[in-house]
Amino acid sequence: MIMKPEICSMREHATTDSNILDHITLDHAWELVTTFSGKERWRPDDVNEAGEMIADRLRALGLPVEIHRPTVALSVPLSASVTLDGEEMFAKPPSSSKSCPNGVTAELFYLPAQKSSLRSYNKKAIAFFGEGVGTDLEMREKVAGKILITEGFGNPALAAIAMEWGAVGMIAVNPGVDTHWGTCTTVWGSPDLDDFGRKPTIPVVSVANPIGLKLIARAQAAATEVTVKTEMQEGWFEQAIPVVEIPGSVEPDKFVLLHGHYDSWDVGVGDNATGDATMLEIARVLWENRGQMQRSVRVAWWPGHSTGRYAGSTWFSDHFALDLDENCVMQVNCDSPGCRWATSYHQTTAMTETHTLVADVIEKIAGKTPVMQRPHQAGDYSFNNVGISSFFMLSSTMPDDLREEKGYYAVSGCGGNIAWHTENDTLEIADKDVLLTDIKIYLESVWRVANAVVLPVDWRATVAELQVTADKYAAASGTAVNLSAVQGAVASLAESLDRFYLGVEQGEIQPKAANEVQMRLARIMVPVNYTTAPRFTHDPAITRAPMPLIEGVMDLAHVPAEMINVTLTQLMRGANRTAAALIDARRLVEATL
Ligand SMILES: [Zn+2]
Repeated sequence: MIMKPEICSMREHATTDSNILDHITLDHAWELVTTFSGKERWRPDDVNEAGEMIADRLRALGLPVEIHRPTVALSVPLSASVTLDGEEMFAKPPSSSKSCPNGVTAELFYLPAQKSSLRSYNKKAIAFFGEGVGTDLEMREKVAGKILITEGFGNPALAAIAMEWGAVGMIAVNPGVDTHWGTCTTVWGSPDLDDFGRKPTIPVVSVANPIGLKLIARAQAAATEVTVKTEMQEGWFEQAIPVVEIPGSVEPDKFVLLHGHYDSWDVGVGDNATGDATMLEIARVLWENRGQMQRSVRVAWWPGHSTGRYAGSTWFSDHFALDLDENCVMQVNCDSPGCRWATSYHQTTAMTETHTLVADVIEKIAGKTPVMQRPHQAGDYSFNNVGISSFFMLSSTMPDDLREEKGYYAVSGCGGNIAWHTENDTLEIADKDVLLTDIKIYLESVWRVANAVVLPVDWRATVAELQVTADKYAAASGTAVNLSAVQGAVASLAESLDRFYLGVEQGEIQPKAANEVQMRLARIMVPVNYTTAPRFTHDPAITRAPMPLIEGVMDLAHVPAEMINVTLTQLMRGANRTAAALIDARRLVEATL
């Protein structure tokens, strides 16, 4: 009999194996949530203790756990303040702020931010400050030597802009009465020689809204000097990474990577004790049912997320780079599931090729149609430069109307609860029912990827999206940059993929070969769609548009005359790299036809 695997053959698995969900209990998960609700997990020693607590629970459940102990770069905030007229006011320094315990004193420069940009990771002054913002040259004249104050979070892209303008300090005015922790570096994980120079060289602080408004009012009324102090603990620290490998019985080398951070700000219940608990329960259930699993699942709990800008996952990505390249079929990130009121899936992170899978799982488990978001260059997405198809980061969140009703502003975790990255992220932020739903969603989707005969990814969807993007870029570019090679390469790849998937459906291409092609496609397509730096390095923590090597064509109108030829040269090289990658992708697909 000839097997006829369908692309959505995971639907069959869903029916035959749906009893996997029946194995879930909340006992172990909730015990970890409550334990972590009393355990601060951001200072290096506390983080290691928490890592051991996870490992102890895994061992007690009979699971084999391996603990890696890499040395990674961390920047731990100790204290910060802003002093105005002799009054010292409370502030928090984001991780990787420059440590200035003696303070930096300078005049404030207030630049209002757009409300919509508060969560932006794009490094574009226009995105933060609107069309009216001056050119870099003009802004340097205004900001150099001053302390930039603006609304927002202590954000890496914002800090990078402030530094480029020559600011000697930055104050981010948070939207509410709480002061949020965060990070302000664009360096991804522990730095190497190429990127350590991007670590902020100025003190950056976040202040609560009432303090910020006071400072802004003074800056608007007259030239006002303030002193910004920051104290950081910085260096290289050994941190524990507990990992559990649950072996598949048919293709044990191939694996799904399920991962999330266990270090947190303060006791971080919604971000991310709930995620740690989700992964604990999934590891337990998968281990019990490993006999039925085709591929392996590797579950990893990361340190260094909050104070090392993803240093744990970055180390793992570097240390196991070739294994990931050879064998990892999908990475699934688990951050902030199971939070209070988070019953909506309208900001679900997923790469386009996984949309069908993710939507199908969420519809089945939660009875809701998710709205997908392109992954930001954030979370522990430390695998884009290797090139691994990915889904989830944040999955569930509270509905928009509920958020408005509560007067909440947008945050980047805790299911939309504004306790995110504050000392208020305590046990009340977790919700047992939502946690159970999210555990089911994560388990079902990981189970399907581990078991689908043909990997449940559809590159036609990604390429269709790239076609629209390429056309949009070409229209914006006009004759400035010739993007016809990119457009042609995308169209050819689309055509090859149609024949490839038909071949798979008709059984002419065997599942093993189909899976290898789909995985190799990820190694080409994820980098070309999300990164600019080479494979096996790490892009800066700045979110980029699709095909980032050529996204700059959309901003040509704002490029000052003196920079236009430099910009066009960059874009021409970017177009070549993009087109060449797409041609490689097509060659890969064609080889199977
Ligand atoms: Zn998180």
